[in-house]
Amino acid sequence: MSDYGFDTLLIHAGARPDPATGARQTPIYQTTAYVFRDADHAAALFNLQEVGFIYSRLTNPTVAVLQEKMATLEGGAGAVCCSSGHAAQIMALFPLMGPGKNVVVSTRLYGGSVTQFSQTIRRFGWSATFVDFDDMAAVEAAIDEDTRAIFCESIANPGGYITDLDAAAKVADKAGLPLIVDNTSATPYLCRPIEHGATLVVHSMTKFLTGNGTVTGGCVVDSGKFDWSASGKFPSLSEPEPAYHGLKFHETFGPLAFTFHGIAVGLRDLGMTLNPQAAHYTLLGIETLSLRMKKHVENAERVASWLEGHDAVKAVTYAGLPSSPYHDRVAQICPKGAGGLFTVTLKGGYEACVKLVDSLELFSHVANLGDTRSLVIHSASTTHRQLTEEQQKAAGAAPDVVRISIGIEDAEDLIRDLDQALAKATG
Ligand SMILES: *Cc1c(COP(=O)(O)O)cnc(C)c1O
Repeated sequence: MSDYGFDTLLIHAGARPDPATGARQTPIYQTTAYVFRDADHAAALFNLQEVGFIYSRLTNPTVAVLQEKMATLEGGAGAVCCSSGHAAQIMALFPLMGPGKNVVVSTRLYGGSVTQFSQTIRRFGWSATFVDFDDMAAVEAAIDEDTRAIFCESIANPGGYITDLDAAAKVADKAGLPLIVDNTSATPYLCRPIEHGATLVVHSMTKFLTGNGTVTGGCVVDSGKFDWSASGKFPSLSEPEPAYHGLKFHETFGPLAFTFHGIAVGLRDLGMTLNPQAAHYTLLGIETLSLRMKKHVENAERVASWLEGHDAVKAVTYAGLPSSPYHDRVAQICPKGAGGLFTVTLKGGYEACVKLVDSLELFSHVANLGDTRSLVIHSASTTHRQLTEEQQKAAGAAPDVVRISIGIEDAEDLIRDLDQALAKATG
């Protein structure tokens, strides 16, 4: 399969005609359980000696097609789908972390991720150290004996900042740690983090992958390249697992160790399962990913450069603009473009931002991104509301900033709508 071009893989990877019926489109296997051939078959499945379907909290044929597709598109060895992007982040960290362990994360993250990492994971005894990933010496300095992973976004939401993944991978390699990259804003169409040295790639499939605002879903793709047994730091993967009669995941499953653990322990015991209907919508969405991302990028480039020239605008963060300090990294990290997401800083501050959001007609005011529809949100009063002003600024969501997710409509119509709304916001 991997000999084929990316657009061919979007359609065909994982999605053979249905083996039971010949159905050409992947059916929705709306079932909770699967009949065992006999007692021996059941025992082999439960012992992980044979791969098959037991119960849909762990595995489901529709979800399995999506997992194979995601692994192929990202160039990974395997993938685990789960119920949301946030679930994917917990699923990625779960086999690596333990009480007292920490993850070194970028200050430029989706607001919900900042909250998850700075607050909620502490209930598990885990912690996160936040660092500016433009300063790799600081990233390196933040790593200590108890660090178990490094986490960043390829194109960081909401600011559209681009992370030097090759440099981050070098730091992770030197420390013997896995690099986890949230590739939600870029999608594998724009960026393939494993080619830049990432160990794991996490996604919110809720966004560009499904692409039309119908699904909440997530995914963890494993490169299959990390040696979980080298340091003794990852006992869940290298040491005997008591819940499977002392099975050692890395020794038994090699490059699929993380994926098998994610399903056999992660989904089994944490239960953050993706449902087959959601997997089906996501599979439909992925078929048109290239067509959509191309238009998202074209539109974002036009709208961002128009906004940059507008009197009411102080700054536009889009890395696709020649004025962006991240412009050089576009060629290195995401050569097909800087995505469809950026922020706009208005001279009129908080008040003007709120008026702009209320005056737009085509843009929908929602807490989502990566939809075919153009979307807008004032992050400081919504998604990033739980953060301190300092955290908001670091995340590119200061009070005078509006986040825009450019859809695939006609760019002229989007510009016309922004023009009338900016006039009201500043008039
Ligand atoms: C939306 C988003 C998430 C969280 O995903 P959900 O599917 O909403 O749980 C994580 N990271 C990024 C970059 C996102 O945009």
